[in-house]
Amino acid sequence: MTLRRIVVVGNGIAGLTACDSLRSAGFDGELTVVGAERHHPYSRPALSKALLHGDDGKSDGALRAHELPPPTHEATELLGVSATGLDVDARLVSLDGGGELPYDGLVIASGSRAKRLASWQSGGPQPEGTSRELTLRSIEDAVALKERVSDRPSVIVVGGGPLGMEVASGCLHMGCDVTLVSDATPLSRQLGDHLAGIFTSAAIGSGLRVVGGGKARLVDRGDSATVVLADGTELEADLVVTAIGDEPNIDWLAGSPLLTDGSLRVDSRGRLRPDIVAAGDVAFFPTLRGVERVPLWTSAIDQARVAAVGLLQGDAAPEFNFQPYFWTEGFGLSLKAVGFTPVAGAPDYCEPGGESGSALLRWDNPDGSGTAAALNYRIPIPRLRRLADAGPAALRPNAPARV
Ligand SMILES: Cc1cc2nc3c(=O)[nH]c(=O)nc-3n(C[C@H](O)[C@H](O)[C@H](O)COP(=O)(O)OP(=O)(O)OC[C@H]3O[C@@H](n4cnc5c(N)ncnc54)[C@H](O)[C@@H]3O)c2cc1C
Repeated sequence: MTLRRIVVVGNGIAGLTACDSLRSAGFDGELTVVGAERHHPYSRPALSKALLHGDDGKSDGALRAHELPPPTHEATELLGVSATGLDVDARLVSLDGGGELPYDGLVIASGSRAKRLASWQSGGPQPEGTSRELTLRSIEDAVALKERVSDRPSVIVVGGGPLGMEVASGCLHMGCDVTLVSDATPLSRQLGDHLAGIFTSAAIGSGLRVVGGGKARLVDRGDSATVVLADGTELEADLVVTAIGDEPNIDWLAGSPLLTDGSLRVDSRGRLRPDIVAAGDVAFFPTLRGVERVPLWTSAIDQARVAAVGLLQGDAAPEFNFQPYFWTEGFGLSLKAVGFTPVAGAPDYCEPGGESGSALLRWDNPDGSGTAAALNYRIPIPRLRRLADAGPAALRPNAPARV
């Protein structure tokens, strides 16, 4: 079927990349992107890094680190509008406010949202204004958090993943007294014990208090927020920021035949059916390690590129060859990693960098793949990819570009 009208639901990086990729692959029909946020796409990773640290590179005080260049895909952008339903037989997307958008091809890129401790506890949505729990997902969340930390409150951060650690680092940098609650060594689930140990030591050295004690519960006692841990430990602070993971935005697809066991599972070309693809944080896709959701920036971009071509070209489109790329920073450290993580044990290769503590690392993974990491080490990503793929020999001056 010729696709004349394509609708993209979600105007984050996956939606933006899908629009750009559809155009570069030759789609010149009607393109409409529906975005619940009132903004053009922006960089979420910046929200917990430069922006929260207060050094987003601009002198006029405005928050700019998250800005992306204006879109050039010439889609009709419906900003501040949510898709509320989908009829796959009639090929119609329903919109809040009552309108409907017909499509020949659909890209689902509705991303994910922060899980909240309060709604976990009550089993339902958090009642407005009854909790001191802040999360960080949107630019509005970042502005609210930045305002709150500027008074240097005491802060409890719940969650020892990359986001929790970045928020903790930002709050420390702003002069807050910060406690991080994590039921395992922070970052160990994402990176493995070796890298997690380096980051956790740096964090503690910077003044972070790390507390275990089992699953956390939030109790709002009016003046302060209390976090109660499974072992009975009670922690009190002015502010609690939770970073306990994300959940896909699929409510608007409730009851849809597209959902398998409550999730969107695409094939190796990003397809749910020939006329519908999905990409980004919302989608599960096949990787070397099974069908997974990989809610990371570069994963969203790579998935969206594949899905756009999958929608236009079907079986003739290239399959997704996923190679994870991840970065984080905080407590004076920066890390870039190519390949699957967490990695087990100490690295098989370590090349110290020029500055103390900087290193280029590589692990041979049991499945035959490699993971390369640059710790406070400046290296172009293609070189890091070569190190992950082909080992240290690939970095020698006369080594072929790809082995
Ligand atoms: C603070 C923070 C820091 C991060 N740091 C890193 C990092 O360092 N490295 C890294 O790799 N990744 C990082 N990530 C993750 C990365 O930002 C995400 O993986 C990426 O933004 C996902 O893009 P997406 O387009 O799939 O989803 P999203 O960015 O969630 O965009 C989806 C968009 O769809 C909209 N939407 C949802 N439902 C509807 C609907 N029904 N109708 C219309 N629109 C809808 C949403 O409002 C949103 O604007 C970070 C995330 C956060 C929050």
